[in-house]
Amino acid sequence: MSSIETLAAALRAMLGAEHVMTDAPELEAAVADLFPFPRPAPAALVVRPGSTTEVSEVVRQACLAGFPVVARGAGLSYTRGLAAPSAAVVVDSSRLDRIEIHAEDMFAVVGSGVSWQRLAEALAPHGLRSQVPGPISGAVTTVGGAISQYVPGSMDGVIGVRVVLADGTVAVTGSGARAGALPFHRHAGPDLTGLFIGDCGVFGIKTEVVLRLVREQPAAFASFAYADPQAMVADIIELRAAGLVTRALALDQSRGEDAGRLETGEALRTAGAVAASAGSALGALREMASMVKGRFELAAAKWSLHLTAEAPTAQMAEHVMAFARERCSRSAREIEPTVPTALRARPYSIRGFVGVEGERWIPVHGMLAPSRAQAALADLEALFSRHRAAMLAVGIRQSYLMSAAGPYLTIEPMFFWPDELDPIHLKHLSSRNRERFAGRPRNDAARELVGRLRAEARECFERHDAAHAQAGRFYRHAERLDAGSAALLTRLRDALDPDRRMNPGVLGLG
Ligand SMILES: Cc1cc2nc3c(=O)[nH]c(=O)nc-3n(C[C@H](O)[C@H](O)[C@H](O)COP(=O)(O)OP(=O)(O)OC[C@H]3O[C@@H](n4cnc5c(N)ncnc54)[C@H](O)[C@@H]3O)c2cc1C
Repeated sequence: MSSIETLAAALRAMLGAEHVMTDAPELEAAVADLFPFPRPAPAALVVRPGSTTEVSEVVRQACLAGFPVVARGAGLSYTRGLAAPSAAVVVDSSRLDRIEIHAEDMFAVVGSGVSWQRLAEALAPHGLRSQVPGPISGAVTTVGGAISQYVPGSMDGVIGVRVVLADGTVAVTGSGARAGALPFHRHAGPDLTGLFIGDCGVFGIKTEVVLRLVREQPAAFASFAYADPQAMVADIIELRAAGLVTRALALDQSRGEDAGRLETGEALRTAGAVAASAGSALGALREMASMVKGRFELAAAKWSLHLTAEAPTAQMAEHVMAFARERCSRSAREIEPTVPTALRARPYSIRGFVGVEGERWIPVHGMLAPSRAQAALADLEALFSRHRAAMLAVGIRQSYLMSAAGPYLTIEPMFFWPDELDPIHLKHLSSRNRERFAGRPRNDAARELVGRLRAEARECFERHDAAHAQAGRFYRHAERLDAGSAALLTRLRDALDPDRRMNPGVLGLG
């Protein structure tokens, strides 16, 4: 028997045959994300352990047998975080699905395979939510995936993890690290939790994440149409610095048009959720009329900014928003707050993972210090204008999303182009859209150009000192560190995983 067959047999005996996958399509899909070009080496095995003890034994045996080990959540990232350089044992977290809510102590212990949506649904009856808001893709993506690659927003709300190291050791961080102690606080000695945030699984596989909970608060919403993106960026920076808004999201016209063109089914679902949160029939009608008007205004706006202000009472939230309104009205026109209202009602959706006509979609992003944001945007604009003719020739459309979750601006250029979709797209599309969008021809020329555009945008961000979430194997992390900082990272890695089995190559750690 080959070493992989021996390992598979041992893992089948432990997990049950149904949780050890060796079919070729499963092995290929397990290492692919949304931009898997060139295609990575297929996995050696995919396993679905159901407990920390099982993960520990899987990792121990796989590493002993000499295989790389890669943790996988929903696989909806796009920076090759799953693409190990050789056939790996992929640990699928979908059965790590326990949620334990401690409402009085304001924390939850969440299995790493739980989706953000499922967590939100479990917390809603308590009037609570996770302090870490989770990514928009949270309808499907996992708590473990987001924490492992860091979402552009504060991670202060991650207060502990349970993690399996390369030799199978199980470690707990935060105040829960003492056997039986309550995991209610992150800072209890050195902050070891931070080591596992944004590590892309290179330091271990998280099986549980302890999340700080906060009370749901009333919110006020406002949206504005801008002609000048630089004026909009200046307003976003000022609003965040003044602490006036909890969320600021900006779209260019192309993204706005997409929002306006949402298919009827999706629009109705969104409207239904908005109506439910409005709490009365009249309120619901008003919300729906505002949504329809807002769609037209969005499509017409060159740029649009969408604000949410939260406070302990609705009156306080409106009061704070009045200050934001005063600032934005100097250079923008107020429009219906369709986008922030819909986002609040339905924070998670993966509808945007293909274009409205089923185009392939891929973003690139950078988080910029306020002093660099306007220059970076100008440079990106110049970069895309230089390539505009080549992009049009192969059907690539480019648009922007910007957001500010703290004192920095995340700029996210994104690309859409007609192309063949992968099994991961087809898996998550509605049956109607699967039928509409499947079977399209491959567009190699566009893939190649998108690959180059993303790389050039990455370089542009680097010139402006951008930081990145989901480093994976795309953003240059270890490669950009100074000598001492690189040595610290390498020594930590050597101590935890001397044979370099855990997700080798990710974060630039070969
Ligand atoms: C429509 C759409 C919207 C999106 N919106 C956002 C957004 O708002 N913000 C944002 O940041 N991203 C966003 N993303 C990108 C992506 O979905 C998120 O980064 C998400 O957190 C990925 O989670 P996942 O479960 O799919 O992780 P995966 O893609 O499965 O894994 C990501 C990385 O984490 C590692 N990993 C996964 N689970 C574990 C674990 N248990 N232990 C250790 N390592 C692990 C993997 O090895 C890999 O390196 C979006 C994507 C889509 C398609």
